Amino acid sequence: MSTELSGGTAGPDALRPLLELVLAGLRAGAERRGGPIPAGSPALIAEQTAAALGITEDEDALLRLTEFLAYGSADPADPACAAHLHCPPLAVAVAADLAVSALNPSQDSWDQAPAATALETALLAELAELVGFQRGRAAGVLTSGGTESNLMGLMLARDQILGGTVELDGLPAGRRPRIFASRAAHFSVQRAAALLGLGENAVRAVPVDRELRMDAGQLAAALAEAVRAGETPIAVVATAGTTDTGAVDPLHEAAELAARYGAWLHVDAAYGGGALLSDRLAPLLDGIGRADSVSLDWHKLGWQPVAAGVFLVRQAQTYASLARRAVYLNPADDEQAGYPSLLGLSLRTTRRADAFKIAVTLRTLGRAGLGRLVDSCHELALGAAEVVRADPALELHCEPILTTVVFRYLPASGDPAEADRINAELRRVLLREGRAVVGRTELPGEGPGRVRLKLTLLNPHATAAEVAAVPAAVVRAARSLSDGT
Ligand SMILES: *Cc1c(COP(=O)(O)O)cnc(C)c1O
Repeated sequence: MSTELSGGTAGPDALRPLLELVLAGLRAGAERRGGPIPAGSPALIAEQTAAALGITEDEDALLRLTEFLAYGSADPADPACAAHLHCPPLAVAVAADLAVSALNPSQDSWDQAPAATALETALLAELAELVGFQRGRAAGVLTSGGTESNLMGLMLARDQILGGTVELDGLPAGRRPRIFASRAAHFSVQRAAALLGLGENAVRAVPVDRELRMDAGQLAAALAEAVRAGETPIAVVATAGTTDTGAVDPLHEAAELAARYGAWLHVDAAYGGGALLSDRLAPLLDGIGRADSVSLDWHKLGWQPVAAGVFLVRQAQTYASLARRAVYLNPADDEQAGYPSLLGLSLRTTRRADAFKIAVTLRTLGRAGLGRLVDSCHELALGAAEVVRADPALELHCEPILTTVVFRYLPASGDPAEADRINAELRRVLLREGRAVVGRTELPGEGPGRVRLKLTLLNPHATAAEVAAVPAAVVRAARSLSDGT
């Protein structure tokens, strides 16, 4: 049984034969799957999984289980796998991440990660500049993703605006803290409010337009109303790239309103941040540099394996409330002697060096090389929207903004409840057949007729014809449902 370690000078030789097995398993599993997702029901996959596992020794476990995982995966590298902000990682990023796994640096103290500590700091300085923050003034950290980044942004907002102490019972009703986010903002905003002791009801949902962009006039009205009611606006969350349509909230107006009401501006660019890489799309994010804090996800429009979240603040000193001294990790005398510590920048302690794969990717492809990948996906979305528009059985919701296409199948009856039922069901048919992985969402509002399908196009190497085959498969699945065939 193999108990060799991955590090040291012997590590590579221990890894090489194992990597050969992993690569063989990946290939065999993808061949067995033969599509974007394994055909069959969740019960079948669970049964096969139970059969593959076990705790008795099996010399072939690595090969067999890798083959099974690859077979049983939804593979975002397949052009028909287009449901979520779930990107096909670049091979170079995965190879870089293997080095991180092998060496296992931990970002909570310099003596566990000398180069990785310096590298994370340097990468964040680059990314701060990309966002329009001033290098040297900004700070940030790698996170598990937009959910954690949004929590951090709202935590710093709470601490900055309310002075770090929230006594919900003790707060006079008149000073209740409020967060303003659009109806299409990510659900993690509500969850963060709850975790921060502010309550989910602290989040005021600002109405959106058809494309799901926050209405600036409604934001102004909601802020004015809150202040009239004696409440305290602590944060405005502007979404730069809503999860469904990619709409970017009006960032300049949000910045002006946040400043006028003394609130923190957090820009959730978990999805749309990738537009900063593209000369063509970057203007959509004009104004993002006015944010107090920003969320970016490189495991969405950045082609990194999970996790590759980034949290940035415009002014490093706003991080003060998170600073911690742990005598065994960042003693003051070590810091005075020049040993830096990232401990006070993160909610976590032990933390992977997720900056490394991003740094390798940026250095390999450059901003321009990554920007071309963003543009390819944008073009695929524009092309897919044309295909949807040209098919009378389909209805396009709005022009693509980034890389998503929101649409639905329209049954002949035109009945909204039937449309909802058929669209929801045809998506499961495509999953069960292992044919396509299409997203399903609902437009904000009330009543039937809000279910929509969604293509989230993140595979820059997919062809227009491969992508066009997905709406065609949607129509076929819908017809098979209505024919009962
Ligand atoms: C994906 C997403 C998030 C959540 O990010 P995770 O990386 O999944 O935690 C937050 N906000 C927006 C707009 C997103 O699209």
